[in-house]
Order: sequence, then C-alpha cells, then structure tokens
Amino acid sequence: MSKKIVLILFSLLLICGCHKKNNNSDINTIIEENKNILVGINYPITTYKKIDTLIENDVEKIYNSFKEKYENFNSLTNKSELNIDYTYNIVNDNFLAITLNVFIDSSKLDKPTNYIKSYVYSIKDNKILTLEDLVDLKNLKKITKYINSSIIRTYGECIDINKFNEKMKPDFNNFSLFSFDEDNLYLYFNEGEISYEYCGLIEVIVPLNKFKSVINIKGKPKDNTKISIPVSKVIDTSKKVVALTYDDGPSKYTNELLDVLKDNDAVATFFVIGNKVNIYSDTLVKAINNGNEIGNHSYNHKWLTKLTTEDFKKQISQTQDVIYDNTGYTPINFRPTYGSINSNIRKNINLNVVLWNVDTMDWKYKSVDRIVSRATKKTNDLDIILMHDTRKRTVEATKKIIPELKKQGFQFVTVSELQEIKKIRNKYE
Ligand code: ZN
Repeated sequence: MSKKIVLILFSLLLICGCHKKNNNSDINTIIEENKNILVGINYPITTYKKIDTLIENDVEKIYNSFKEKYENFNSLTNKSELNIDYTYNIVNDNFLAITLNVFIDSSKLDKPTNYIKSYVYSIKDNKILTLEDLVDLKNLKKITKYINSSIIRTYGECIDINKFNEKMKPDFNNFSLFSFDEDNLYLYFNEGEISYEYCGLIEVIVPLNKFKSVINIKGKPKDNTKISIPVSKVIDTSKKVVALTYDDGPSKYTNELLDVLKDNDAVATFFVIGNKVNIYSDTLVKAINNGNEIGNHSYNHKWLTKLTTEDFKKQISQTQDVIYDNTGYTPINFRPTYGSINSNIRKNINLNVVLWNVDTMDWKYKSVDRIVSRATKKTNDLDIILMHDTRKRTVEATKKIIPELKKQGFQFVTVSELQEIKKIRNKYE
C-alpha cells in the first residue's frame, strides 16, 4: 500500500532584524566523555585577539587541571564533571563584556565548586578593562553603598562579616569581577570571598539608571518583523525514512552544513545548546526556513540527571525561551546531554525525549570515511542518526552520507516527521 502524505508545516517566524551583533563572533564548544569524566565547555570567540587569547588560556588551564585531577580518578558512584558556561554582552560598538561560569563536581570533592571569571574589553583602546576604567572614585563610593545594602538584604546571615566589611571598602581592587550590559552593572563575589562557602556565588545587579554618569552606554532598540513562511513537502510514507540529527550547535560550521543539506534536498534536526543561540540566531532562522527542525539540548550542556528538578526545568525553559525569542519557533523535541536520562527527567519534561539508533562517533573519529561508514552501513528504516555540527569533518561526512543513504532508498525527514510517519503507519498496518 503506497500513500503519499503531504506534510505542511506552517511556522510563524520572527525574523529579527535584531540590532547588529558582532557577526564574526563564534562559540567554541568542547564536549567530551570517557569512563571517568564528562566535559561540557562553551565560550565565545570575539575575534579580538587580546581578549580571545586571555579567555582561551584560562579555559585551557582549567580544562588541563581538571583532566589531570580527574581523568584517571575512577569513582564507583559518579563521573567527575566540568562545565563552563558563559555570558557574552556586546554592549555597543566599543565594549564587550564576558563572564565564564566554571562548575566542577566530583565525588573527590565535598561539594561542587562554582566560580566566575570576568573579562571586559574595549575595542577602541584594545584594552582589557578594570572597573577603574569605567567608574570614578566618587561613583565607586555610591555603588559600594548600594551593593552593601543590597547584599545584606539578599544574603543576610550568609555573610562573613569580617571579610564583607573588608571587601566593601571603596577600593577598585575589591571589585575585580564585573560585567555589564545596556541596563545593569553586574558584580560578582566567588564562594568564600565575602560569605561562608556554602552560600555559593554572589551576584549583585546594579541598575545603571541609578548611576547616570557611571558608564555611558546607549542601546539601540531591537527591530522585529514578523513574517509567516509556509513550508510544504511530500513524503512517501511507504518508503524508508531516516532522520539526521546534529547536537551541540549551532557553531560556525552549521551554516555550511545547512547549504549541504539544501543542495542535497535533505533536512535534519538540530538539538541546540541554548547559550549559543543568540550568537547564531541568523543560522537558526535559516535552518528553520530551509525546513529543518530545532530541538532542545539544554542551556549549557550540564549533566542533567545530577541537577535538582528546579535547575533541570530552568535548563529546558531558558533554552525554549531563547530559541523562541530569536526565531519565533518553539521546539517540541528534547535530547538529553550525554544521552543520560532518568525517571525524574522523564517526569518533568513536557517535550518528546529523543535519543538515537545510530551513533557515528563523529566527535571522536577524525576520519571522514569512518564517520560515513558508521552512518551508512547498518542504518535501517526509521533510524535516527547522531552527529554533531561542531566540527568541519562532520560537514564533509554529511556530503557523502546523504547520497549514499539516498542510493539505499532513504528519504530524509526531521525527527517530528519521523514520529508522524510512525503514527501513520501504525494506523494503516
Ligand atoms: Zn551534547
């Protein structure tokens, strides 16, 4: 029985003419897993050498020291995890403000470590800035007063009063961790700096409008235009289908991958990391416009089964929000990081959980042909193939995988289409 089903997908896209971002920016991603460790690292590449080198060196140091300590530490209970997340504010034509949030958990430690590193850069001056470059002493006194009462109000009994009093003196050296955007100045104090260790990291938000002359930043309004693009497509549900999926992007390789898919008249599903979406919003819009599907792969690639329910839900909702804000599209599928899932996640997720049947191991194998062979040799009807759009070799492999699978009679569908086809077949068989 042969049935041709036309799947018509209407998607309302918010094509942002969002104010000009630094379009040359990239996010570097390192995702690794072996029997003892899990590594999930994302950090921005601004293309300004001075700040990029500084950040890369810091990340490398953290990564190497983590590996040295934990790669050969075989815990019976849990793997050790390193996660580096970031914030990246392109404040205006001149200022870039970046923070790295470093998280390390291991059964070697009493409790997870969590700390911030911050970098503020002036493009005009080619200089890494301290708070002193942005605020004069008079204003620092005002700010100190403000954060003093703000910290006491929010953190109260957590504060180690001796350390706190010392740190609240209006001395620029006391405020080395900071960041800002168009609206706020953010000051950070790492664990134990002004509070007792168990209180964790302290962040103070200082609204800039309270301190008008502190930092002169003028924001440009966002310009959003809504357009609606219908996508129609014919799939023969009696014939073999396969879903290509790409995790851990978007990245600087995704754009080319989209062209490869389009040139081969194929589509795929991209399980994206939320914290990379802002930088690659144009790529994501293009992916959707070309008929591809976007799925949720958490906000910063943390090991989700170890999070509290509340933190897990936040990982999902933040990612849903940032995808919607940038594209007008709402994902319905979710892929757990490291393929790791438990009943708590299943209970607390309102998206379809999507794993895979074919693992290309493209993050590990350097040979394109080996990746192609893993993707094409044992693939069956309705299979989902796992790849990662974070490396050039995966783009090269895709160029060969699609024609080979087509030769075997496969049609390329998104994960949602694949699920739809399963339902249709069940109905008629
Ligand atoms: Zn992943």
